[in-house]
Formats: sequence, structure tokens, C-alpha cells
Amino acid sequence: MTTNVFIGGAWPYANGSLHLGRLASLLPGDVLARYHRAKGDQVLYVSGSDCHGTPVAVQAAQEGIEPSAFATRYHEEFKECFASLGFTYDNYTRTDQPFHHEVVQQLFLKLLDNGHLYTRTVQQTYCETDERFLPDRYVEGTCPVCRMRARGDQCDYCSTLLDPSDLTDRTCKLCGNPPIERPTVHYYLALSKFQAEMERYVSKARKGSWRDNAVQLTSRYLKKGTAGSCRHTRFNLGCRCPDRRL
Ligand SMILES: [Zn+2]
Ligand SMILES: [Zn+2]
Repeated sequence: MTTNVFIGGAWPYANGSLHLGRLASLLPGDVLARYHRAKGDQVLYVSGSDCHGTPVAVQAAQEGIEPSAFATRYHEEFKECFASLGFTYDNYTRTDQPFHHEVVQQLFLKLLDNGHLYTRTVQQTYCETDERFLPDRYVEGTCPVCRMRARGDQCDYCSTLLDPSDLTDRTCKLCGNPPIERPTVHYYLALSKFQAEMERYVSKARKGSWRDNAVQLTSRYLKKGTAGSCRHTRFNLGCRCPDRRL
């Protein structure tokens, strides 16, 4: 019997050359695709370059070029790399294609229509000099854990994951002035609505062939509850992020 097998490989960020570690994490998908094709299954193995996001925007700004031009440089390099290494993607695309935008918008609207999204107003860092909201990485300040200079998403000295609001003595990475906070409305996925469904799925999957660490990690997350946990709780920071309150 022919089985349809979909393999969605990770989408590498188009913000720097691929190194062995990144390739190693992509390789298992290709092994799996070859295995299923050899078995006679119908395989759809896809991936692409992630051309959006702060890392791309920050580095493009530093080089003084458009983010799309910056992303294209690495997308082309990735494609060449995958071809010369013999990766067998059925489709390797990029996130800034109209088709990709369309599918993402359809998914978003479906989630919205089904009531799985909700809005919340949160304070976001804003620079009055540059007249723009600042992505987490554009904010710098003193780390609350080790007191070293850190970025608004992470401290490189102690590896703590941060929110810009965790930092003191904050400055804008672009102009060096202290930013302010302004309210903004964001959409969130109500993950807590899926707790029971995920527990059922995991208990079924566990009887199959999940690895021990996958079972343990998933169970730990579900035990903590999809409601009420956030990336900051493990560092015991005084967290005010919306994930925490759900
Ligand atoms: Zn730190
Ligand atoms: Zn600024």
C-alpha cells in the first residue's frame, strides 16, 4: 500500500552561511525522504529559506542594503549548497514568495475564524528619535541576572532569554537614545485550548516509536500545562509576558 508522507524540513534563516551544525540538523529529513521513496511511498519533502525576521533585518540595515537583497544572497548560497550535497527536496522555496504569504494568511484567518486567536495589548519598545517600534534585538541594556550589557532578546554573557522590559539603562541600538514604551495590540494562539487534544495525541504516540527524551520533554511541557508557562519561568525572572498569564 502506498502511503503519502509529508516531510517539512526546518527552514534555515537566510542571515549567514550554513555551517555543519545547521546541515546536520537538516540531514535526517533527507534520509527519511530517501527511505520512504525507496519503499515506494509518495513523498513530499519541502523546505525553504526564512527570508523574514529580525536577524535578516538587522544585518541588512548594518550593510545598508534591502532585506530582500540580503536574504537572496544567502538563499542562493543555500540552494547551491543543498544541490552540491545531494539533498533531495521536492520543493525548496523561500518565505517571501506570494504563494507562501497566501498560505500563511489562509492559516491565520482560519485560526481567527475558529476562535483560536485572541488579542492582547502589550507595551512595546519605541524609539522617538527613529520613530519606530524596536525589535527585541534593537534594544540594549543591563542584564537583570549578570548585570552585563545585553540585547533585548538574550544575554550573551549568561545566556538568559530576555524581554526588552527586563533590561535597565536601555538604549536604542540604532541611535543610542533611551527608548520609551508604547501600547500595541498583538494576536496570540490560545494554546491552552489544545491541552486535552495534545495529551490524547501524545499518549497514543508514546505507544509507537517515540524516543525517550522526546516523550519526557513533551510530557514535562504538558504536565506544566500549555497554559501558564513561558520561556522565562525557568530563569525565575519577574516575568510579565502574556504567555505567563494564560
Ligand atoms: Zn546576563
Ligand atoms: Zn533610536
